[in-house]
Amino acid sequence: MAAPTNEAIVIVGAGIIGLDVALVLAERGLGHHITVIAEYLPGDTSPEYTSPWAGSNFSGISGSDKNALRWDRMGYAHLAKLASERGEEAFVARAHSIEYWDANAPHEKIKAISEYLEDASDTCPALHELPAGVEYGISCTTLTLHAPKHIEYLYATLRDQHGVRFVRQKLDSIQAAFASPRTKAVFNCTGNAARTLPGVEDPKCYPTRGQVVLARAPAVKHNVMRHGRDYETYIIPRPRSNGNVILGGYMQKGTSDAATYSYETESIMARTTALCPDLRERPHEVLASFAGMRPSREGGARVEREDISVKGTRRALVHNYGAGGTGFQAGYGMATDAAATIEDVLRELQAGPRARL
Ligand SMILES: Cc1cc2nc3c(=O)[nH]c(=O)nc-3n(C[C@H](O)[C@H](O)[C@H](O)COP(=O)(O)OP(=O)(O)OC[C@H]3O[C@@H](n4cnc5c(N)ncnc54)[C@H](O)[C@@H]3O)c2cc1C
Repeated sequence: MAAPTNEAIVIVGAGIIGLDVALVLAERGLGHHITVIAEYLPGDTSPEYTSPWAGSNFSGISGSDKNALRWDRMGYAHLAKLASERGEEAFVARAHSIEYWDANAPHEKIKAISEYLEDASDTCPALHELPAGVEYGISCTTLTLHAPKHIEYLYATLRDQHGVRFVRQKLDSIQAAFASPRTKAVFNCTGNAARTLPGVEDPKCYPTRGQVVLARAPAVKHNVMRHGRDYETYIIPRPRSNGNVILGGYMQKGTSDAATYSYETESIMARTTALCPDLRERPHEVLASFAGMRPSREGGARVEREDISVKGTRRALVHNYGAGGTGFQAGYGMATDAAATIEDVLRELQAGPRARL
C-alpha cells in the first residue's frame, strides 16, 4: 500500500455523525487516510443540514434499546472528557439539568444512565415540588454544546491537526464515493438524505421537525427539559455564547417545513417561561426562531456494514445515519460502532506499507 493519500477512507457527510466518525478514526492516527465529502460543511446553514440547528445537550430524550443505552454511555464519557480537557475551545460545558416526565418515565433507562451521570438524583431539593402535571423528575450534571460552533471546532481540528481532507461536493449516489480505486471503505453519514440518495433509499427514514427560539437570557444557567405526552419543552443555555439560550420545542414526525411560525414561537415562550423562573422573572430578549429536521428512522439509527461490488471489486460501505434527536449525544458511540465494522481495513491501514512487504 502506498503512503497515505486521503483516499483509503471516504466519509460522506459533515454533520456531527460524519465528523464524529472522522474523529474516532483520527484518534487512531488515520487522519491522513480520510476524505470527508459533503454538500454542506460546518459554517453553512441549510434545511438539509441538521447539525447547526441542534439545542444541544445530553438528555433522556434518547431511546431505551440496547444500542441507544450504549451510545449514550459512550457519548456522555466522550463529552465529559472534552468538557474537562478543552471545553472552551470545543464549545462543550457541564451544566446542571432537571428533567421532568409528565407520564411513562423510562425508569429502567433512567436507572441505567444514573450509574454514570454525574450528580444524578431524584430527591434533590429542586424536585420537592414538581410542576403541575409532572409525574417524575431527576436532576444531574449534563453536557451542553454550542452545536454550530462545536462542529466548526471539529472541522478545524480534523483538518489542521489530523490531516483530514474536506471536499465540498454533492454526490449523485453513494457509489460515487468510491470514485478512487484506492478507496477501501465509505461511511454513509448523510442524515435525512439517506431516504432518497440512490444506493441507499431507506424507506424507514423520515424527518422530525423542531422549531426553536434563540434568546438572550444571561440569568438562565440551568437546563430544564419537560417530556410531555405530545410535546417537548426545553431550556438549554449555550456554552460560550454571551448568555444565549435555546428554547424549544417541537417533535413533528414526518414534517420537513423549514419555515418558522409566530404561533409556535409564542407557544415555546409560554411553555419555557412557565417552567423556568430565571427566564420568567429576569430580563430576556428573543433573538430569532429556527427550524431543523431531525434525521429519524423507524427502529432507530442504522449502524451497519454492507459489502458491495463496485466495478467488480468488493468494497465496504458502512451506513451510519438515523440519529434522530440524539446525534450530539450518541454520535461518538455510533462512530465507534461504525468504525468497528471495518476493523480489518483499519488494521491494514495502521500497519502501513510494511504490512504488504
Ligand atoms: C431543533 C433540534 C434540536 C436538537 N437537539 C439535540 C440535542 O439537544 N441533543 C442531540 O444530541 N441532538 C439534538 N438534535 C439532533 C441532531 O441535531 C441530529 O441528530 C444531528 O444533527 C444529525 O446529524 P447528521 O450528521 O446525521 O445529519 P446532518 O447534520 O444533516 O448532516 C448530513 C451531511 O450529509 C451531507 N450530504 C447529504 N447528502 C449528500 C450528498 N448526496 N452528497 C454529499 N453530501 C451529502 C450533508 O451536506 C451534510 O454534510 C436536535 C435537532 C434539532 C433539529
